[in-house]
Amino acid sequence: MSDPIASPKEKRAPEFSSWGRYPVYHANIIPLQWQKDFPPPVPPHNGMLPVGLGRSYGDVCLLKDGNLITTRALDRLLAFDPQTGILRCEAGVSLAEILDFAVPHGWFLPVTPGTKYVTVGGAIANDIHGKNHHLAGTFGNHVSRFELVRSDGTRILCSPTEHSEWYCATIGGMGLTGLITWAEFQLKPIASRLIKYEGIKFHGIDEFLQLTRESQRIEYTVAWIDCVSTGRNFARGIFMQGDHSSEPGPLNISRKPKLRMPIDLPGFALSRPSVMAFNTLYYNKQLSKQVRTMVDYEPFFYPLDAVMDWNRGYGKRGLLQFQCALPWGHAHEATIAILKTITASGLASFLAVLKAFGDVPSRGMMSFPQPGITLALDFPIKPDRSFPLLDRLAQMTLEFGGRMYPAKDARMTAAQFQDFYPQWRDFARYRDPNITSSFWERVTQRPTA
Ligand SMILES: Cc1cc2nc3c(=O)[nH]c(=O)nc-3n(C[C@H](O)[C@H](O)[C@H](O)COP(=O)(O)OP(=O)(O)OC[C@H]3O[C@@H](n4cnc5c(N)ncnc54)[C@H](O)[C@@H]3O)c2cc1C
Repeated sequence: MSDPIASPKEKRAPEFSSWGRYPVYHANIIPLQWQKDFPPPVPPHNGMLPVGLGRSYGDVCLLKDGNLITTRALDRLLAFDPQTGILRCEAGVSLAEILDFAVPHGWFLPVTPGTKYVTVGGAIANDIHGKNHHLAGTFGNHVSRFELVRSDGTRILCSPTEHSEWYCATIGGMGLTGLITWAEFQLKPIASRLIKYEGIKFHGIDEFLQLTRESQRIEYTVAWIDCVSTGRNFARGIFMQGDHSSEPGPLNISRKPKLRMPIDLPGFALSRPSVMAFNTLYYNKQLSKQVRTMVDYEPFFYPLDAVMDWNRGYGKRGLLQFQCALPWGHAHEATIAILKTITASGLASFLAVLKAFGDVPSRGMMSFPQPGITLALDFPIKPDRSFPLLDRLAQMTLEFGGRMYPAKDARMTAAQFQDFYPQWRDFARYRDPNITSSFWERVTQRPTA
């Protein structure tokens, strides 16, 4: 595979990039103004793809030399029932905008990823998961209805009981079944912005699994894990758990972030010594084995959102994320084996999370989560080192019966994708013939022997 990194001499910056800023592809940007603008009178050449805020890491939201239909102008909240908490909004509304509206009314998102800067369309199309997956499942589990518009102009109202096959294909369908114009979903009541937080230090995967078993009834759980240290510090981390406070408390709107990463940091900023130093500081910022405190939901759910454009910290070449789901049957040995491969490489960044997925079935045909452990971490791009490592990790994931997350991927091969998602051929029947993505083109090629 060629490595489509922007050359330093590249003059035209792409107008739309994914969060990892890799690969770099040019596309024609078509901003959608109103729901009635879609489909265009004549389908554009080279295919099209609806996109949201580009918070996917790889090429699931890119279409090389094609047409990206940007949906941010579909930004209206359409209806809200304060009795039931059911919200209907256009698909370009971001989760940040929903929080600004909902929190002051005492409501919260049913499921949220690690950033609030994603659109509702993107949340459905990747069937995103959050820290409450073990109890709440994915975002799609809370979506009661949405409208799907195909490139031939057909409008399909999708719900678990109406056109349910389109509903299941579109949840986790990576934008390939058509444009989602609006969606309706269930919010959850809260009494306050505050989260009853507990942080517990752990050493090793056995302790992580023990904490996971003990926290089954706590709504939100996730662990930060040190993927650089070896020896007695191997797989040390902080297990973070929390519930919404039941005491009435503040319900104000969040302040807008003031910090912005002003420049692309040079490569050495994420070298092994600097990441080791960061990890030691982070692990030791909590002095005692266990802390309990009340925290605001912003730093609890969205610590990275405090600095806009933080992905520039990975330098001009960008970053790759690796996220796998490992089934319970192999979770213990697989997590250790994968972590050992990562620590031996010395390439991991400080952003690494480990979490248990629960067994609430996803509604999406192509949804990523499966019961077991999920590990997600970032790697700065160093083509001669990080690409072979990612390829090795994908292969290990396959051998342990796991799968990788298309929303975070820029590397898996066609053969790997087709093994991870054997249902892909059934799904392909729902793809809109005028819609495709660079990811889809890459992973549906005939695998080479
Ligand atoms: C810091 C950070 C933390 C993250 N944490 C998590 C996490 O905890 N859990 C998780 O699951 N994900 C996580 N993600 C990934 C992110 O939630 C998903 O990639 C999400 O889909 C991005 O939404 P978006 O609006 O930016 O969509 P884009 O990235 O622009 O597009 C994503 C997909 O949605 C499709 N799409 C977008 N809008 C529409 C529409 N209106 N109709 C049809 N298809 C559409 C696109 O074609 C594409 O396939 C994280 C990302 C970042 C940057």
